[in-house]
Amino acid sequence: MTTEISISNSVRQKCSRKLYECTKKSKIPKPFHIAKEIEKGIYNYMLNQNDNNKTRALKIYRDKIVSIYYNLEHTKSFVKRLKIGAIMPQDIPYMSPQEIAPEVWMPLISRRNRENELIETTKGAIITTTEECGRCHHNEHETHESQTRGVDEGTTQFYKCTNCGNEWKQ
Ligand SMILES: [Zn+2]
Repeated sequence: MTTEISISNSVRQKCSRKLYECTKKSKIPKPFHIAKEIEKGIYNYMLNQNDNNKTRALKIYRDKIVSIYYNLEHTKSFVKRLKIGAIMPQDIPYMSPQEIAPEVWMPLISRRNRENELIETTKGAIITTTEECGRCHHNEHETHESQTRGVDEGTTQFYKCTNCGNEWKQ
């Protein structure tokens, strides 16, 4: 089952023309053909979402066009893989942002992993009495400091009340 949604040929042509600007500029072999294939892939992707709501379906189509256009313009590794045939145009709409632009996403993901690791290793440190729990006014809690953000953003102090388990950070 696919949806009944259809997009006019003139809109589809406009979109593949826009994509063609990029494929041509990036010197991708057979730029016109590749742009058409990408657009066709996006159109089929939209149909495969089985969303009979026209507004949502058009949004799916438009968002994919915009995102792939952006990556064709800015993501060197993506263009390179497309050039050498390591990516099939019709598969592009199914690729995750990480797959399309690993150089953008991987540093963020590994930073997130490092942060989580840091939070794990610094858990449950010391008991202090300088802060009062906002919930039960108990003044004994576990605390630890974590330098998880950029260096210039300083450290975050985490607290956990030993009485009621309330957690907060400063
Ligand atoms: Zn408490």
